[in-house]
Amino acid sequence: MIVAEQKPLNEIKTMIADAERVLLVGCGTCVTVCFAGGTKEVDLLATSLRMSTKLDGNGKVVDEFTVQRQCEWEYNEPLKEKLDDYDLVVSLGCGVGVQTLNEQFPQKQFVPGLNTAFMGLPTEQGVWEERCAACGNCILDKTGGICPIARCAKQLLNGPCGGSQNGVCEIESDVPCAWQLIWERANDLGQIDRLMELQPAKDWRTSRDGGPRKIVREDLRLVAHEEE
Ligand code: SF4
Ligand code: SF4
Repeated sequence: MIVAEQKPLNEIKTMIADAERVLLVGCGTCVTVCFAGGTKEVDLLATSLRMSTKLDGNGKVVDEFTVQRQCEWEYNEPLKEKLDDYDLVVSLGCGVGVQTLNEQFPQKQFVPGLNTAFMGLPTEQGVWEERCAACGNCILDKTGGICPIARCAKQLLNGPCGGSQNGVCEIESDVPCAWQLIWERANDLGQIDRLMELQPAKDWRTSRDGGPRKIVREDLRLVAHEEE
């Protein structure tokens, strides 16, 4: 899932300072699961903003709405008829959601209520960890299913650096060395030999270094054209 966390209240208050009527829009998918931007969080933030701006002597109308998935146009359609009532909309979706809304409804401005952090999973109650950096050329088959791009601080491809001590990464005492994990997992799988194959320098053009990325499926486009 995409993992995000809410921006500090004061930062959100600064963003809405010039608006009198504000709509908060949550997203019912990833950010609901990580307790950052679902119906409950929208409700709590709306209450905080109403109270806080009132105490400041500048009370604002702050209304709430949550769509199932902000990153797909179809799900945002119910918003269309509401937007005229507001000066500004705060999206509690991830960065993709905020951009989808700005693109879909250009007559209105949507600002981010969340900081989008990474793709990951909950590892225990209240803890989320990064697992994939969307490099565009997955090598998990070669690394025992553990990603050195997302989980090694130096994104090393051919074993650990000298900072790996007792299974811990040099950046932080509570961060396991990804290459220690890779080695142990490969050992358990009987695949240490795969780690002995030298990995060439990674072609980062499939990652962010190649600029904004796009996937085009001609087979699906063809079906869509035939249906028109
Ligand atoms: S190798 Fe690339 S695609 Fe695979 S998990 Fe790591 S970052 Fe994600
Ligand atoms: S200690 Fe391990 S995880 Fe940390 S940077 Fe070095 S190889 Fe990567």
